[in-house]
Amino acid sequence: MATYIAVDGGPGEATARRSWLRMRRTMLMAAVMDPGRHIGGVGMERTATCVCGQLSVGCRGEPARVSLCHCLACQKRTGSTYGIAAFFRREAVESKGRARRYMRSSDSGYEVTFHFCPDCGSTVFWEPHRKVDMIAVAVGAFADPAFPPPSQAVYEEHRHPWIGIIHPSRPASPL
Ligand SMILES: [Zn+2]
Ligand SMILES: [Zn+2]
Repeated sequence: MATYIAVDGGPGEATARRSWLRMRRTMLMAAVMDPGRHIGGVGMERTATCVCGQLSVGCRGEPARVSLCHCLACQKRTGSTYGIAAFFRREAVESKGRARRYMRSSDSGYEVTFHFCPDCGSTVFWEPHRKVDMIAVAVGAFADPAFPPPSQAVYEEHRHPWIGIIHPSRPASPL
């Protein structure tokens, strides 16, 4: 059962947010007890990988933005009902392994180049040509339930009605 963080209107919202905050608090407590421990911020390092592990990207620091996308192309790409991307500055991202590319244009008119593992097919990251200084990394590829939740959702018109609504913490932008 998937957990949707920052959704509104369902009983899951408060619970999901509470458990995320609880996890965060535990991590902060641990950091107080052991100041050498990684808790995020500029020193944070995370790795996203494809399902077979062949293709990976290391990401330094916290994402500039985490965005959930309801668009039909993300639904097709993921096989799920939405995609979630974490945007990192290009210089904070380093990829390892072989990747194949797939380029398509987005509704904004800009192209997006997706990088996926040729062995298992997982899309691990992509380059939005609209924002050339940023790399989008598939949040699911981190396989980390403690990953920061999305702060915005785009293409609401294609949202499956059972998925909660995210109240953006700042104006939504599809990037
Ligand atoms: Zn793979
Ligand atoms: Zn999308």
